[in-house]
Amino acid sequence: MHYRDFIDENRDNIIRDVQRLVRIKSVDDTPAEGMPFGQGIGEALNEALQISEELGFVTCNLDGYAGYAEAGEGEETVGILVHMDVVPEGEGWSLAPYGGEVKDGKIYGRGTSDDKGPAVAALYALKAVVQSGAALNRRVRVIFGTNEEISSKCMEYYIEKCGEVDTGFTPDANFPLIHGEKPILQGEIAFTDSKEATAPCLVEISGGKAANMVADNCRAVLLVQVGQSFEEAFKAYCKKHVLKGIYKQEDAKHVLELSGASSHGSRPQEGINAIAHMVEFLSALPLNRGSEFAKEYMEKIGLDTDGTKLGIAKKDEFGETTLCVGTIRTENGNFIVGVDVRYPLTLKDEARALFAGALKEKNLVYEEKAYKAGLYMPLDSSLVKTLMKCYSEETGDSTTPAFTIGGGTYARSMKNILGFGMVFPGEEEVMHKRDEYVQIDKLLTATKIYAAAIIALAADEE
Ligand SMILES: [Zn+2]
Repeated sequence: MHYRDFIDENRDNIIRDVQRLVRIKSVDDTPAEGMPFGQGIGEALNEALQISEELGFVTCNLDGYAGYAEAGEGEETVGILVHMDVVPEGEGWSLAPYGGEVKDGKIYGRGTSDDKGPAVAALYALKAVVQSGAALNRRVRVIFGTNEEISSKCMEYYIEKCGEVDTGFTPDANFPLIHGEKPILQGEIAFTDSKEATAPCLVEISGGKAANMVADNCRAVLLVQVGQSFEEAFKAYCKKHVLKGIYKQEDAKHVLELSGASSHGSRPQEGINAIAHMVEFLSALPLNRGSEFAKEYMEKIGLDTDGTKLGIAKKDEFGETTLCVGTIRTENGNFIVGVDVRYPLTLKDEARALFAGALKEKNLVYEEKAYKAGLYMPLDSSLVKTLMKCYSEETGDSTTPAFTIGGGTYARSMKNILGFGMVFPGEEEVMHKRDEYVQIDKLLTATKIYAAAIIALAADEE
């Protein structure tokens, strides 16, 4: 039977198996026996392996960190990377978040689109290929991760036990295909200030939630002299920059609060950085401790979102460096600034050394907190060409190009794979949102695309 007919015939089974997985609440939790990320995730992994066995695949559970379903034979492995963990459901659902209800051609529930629906699509795609009689000259593994939403420790464990796959994709992203992801560096820059903490001075500054989000709030505490106030200057600054600010006088302590607008760390130019504006305001004040820091910050970081002043601005055909200042805090009299830097993706592994060099040049002390190497496969590489062909042949869409992103997908957790679906071009992004759903027709189309991709990647005889 042709794989397309098999998939159409199994429409109800596909829906049922998505429901089986969605009905298990698999949010990160305290570890249990053989379930390093908690009971719910452990049960979802077991259920995915159970479904795999019912479909006739060889399965393996890697100590609750990951598992896989396998078909085909050969030296090389094609990996299809999916994950069983979900983010918490949050508030405001109009249907049960773990109900898997079918309504208006959609299956609703947390995980339906991220990533349990795609996981079932991958399994039925592999089943459809096997029963079509196509000879698989490579092993094909649908790999179930369990920790994608937190830190992809599941894939570190998988690679430790099974090694890297030779090629493949992850249905945890967008169609048609993501062929590049920027290198991401996150860490803290420590600014010092040699001046005395005597009035007028900056006592404390804090703001932001995470390095990878433009800070939408910043609070500064100033110690002032008797009769001194910076309220007029602060109000004038807020008015000039159209910002919301609050100035409170508590005896000699004056508290300044500034609101900005958040945006994702990969697009800092779309936000209004409350920290950068607060520091810019402070840099114009006649402070003892605080002025030196604020002036140095303005000279080396300023209001930039591309890192020009820091000397890290770079550009390639896919984009520019982005610099996001996400947090600030005071620690032992130092001012600690949390940043998220994303270099153009063709710089791939060079990014780390480039950033370290730039900071040294500027005499800044930096502590790295996280680093994710970039990912890039050229448009004329064999994997990109193969997957794009499968997508356009199954959908008839031959105009939407493969694209690159500043964010990160599951593809980074393993070598040689790319983000491939399942969100279609122009489709609403419902991942992590309330009333998450997957459209059943799109789920079936994606299953057919994945079947075509499995044949193309595993049945070639190069
Ligand atoms: Zn996901």
